[in-house]
Amino acid sequence: EWAGATSLEQVVLAAPRSFCAGVERAITVVEQALDRHGPPVYVRKQIVHNTHVIDDLSRRGAVFVDELTEVPDGAVTVFSAHGVSAEVRRTAADRGLPVIDATCPLVTKVHNEARRYAGQGRTVLLIGHAGHEETEGTLGEVPGRVTLVQSPGEAERVEVADPDRVSYLVQTTLAVDEVSGVLDVLRRRFPALTGPSSDDICYATTNRQVALRAIAAEADLVLVLGSSNSSNSLRLVEVARRAGTPAHLVDDVGAVDLRWLAGIRTVGVTAGASAPPHLVDQTVAALVGLGARAVRERTTSTEEVHFTLPKEKRPR
Ligand code: SF4
Repeated sequence: EWAGATSLEQVVLAAPRSFCAGVERAITVVEQALDRHGPPVYVRKQIVHNTHVIDDLSRRGAVFVDELTEVPDGAVTVFSAHGVSAEVRRTAADRGLPVIDATCPLVTKVHNEARRYAGQGRTVLLIGHAGHEETEGTLGEVPGRVTLVQSPGEAERVEVADPDRVSYLVQTTLAVDEVSGVLDVLRRRFPALTGPSSDDICYATTNRQVALRAIAAEADLVLVLGSSNSSNSLRLVEVARRAGTPAHLVDDVGAVDLRWLAGIRTVGVTAGASAPPHLVDQTVAALVGLGARAVRERTTSTEEVHFTLPKEKRPR
């Protein structure tokens, strides 16, 4: 009955969308650990921030825990894609846990920068969101030496030991335009500010935001597949809204409220870097079922990034 009632005409898909190389690698790490060692395999925190991925791996025998204290002695332990603090690595080593570190290499790069800047005696400012596992890991790479800056307001207020020796880092999944607002303030206050040679915001985050902006310009409504704790997915929703297009974050097609579609002709669809591609397929199929006759893909870039798998660290 809805098919007749909706005004839907077309679906525009953003490309790139969905899984990035870091998420694919992290999921493969858990799958391979389950194959090699058999369940249970313990994973500290959600391997990636997506409920469908977590449910699927849980069914196959992965056990997701918040802290290492919940991991039994000797159990195979995976660190999530978001990275861990130096203390977590030390605790795992002290306990002799066999660890496979699925931290995305692009997060590790930010940790390395934190160590390098702090080692040079510089104040390190991390542009990011409090409470996210990635920022907790980066802050904990050189404890007490990195200060979180969440907004232009905080950038105005942050105090540093020596204004001539300040460096910044960025959480990998922020919105590009949001970061430039904070950086403008920091550069004005600290003209000698230095930062990473290439941006910390990762290629996948950047590409998905560019692709989203392209579809938001043609769409009356944007649906972003992703979970509510997924930083890059949340940023996609914000970027669409800042572009003036209504947008909703949905875990899957079942979360789409049909009332959102009233009067909508063109729906833009994308997915965060942690959201599996089949969720997009299901959503498109449902929109076609509701009357959309055309499905187009708008490609703003192509990605050919792959990361090699990490080795398991056996206790000595
Ligand atoms: Fe790595 Fe970027 Fe994917 Fe995060 S979003 S896992 S930093 S590639």
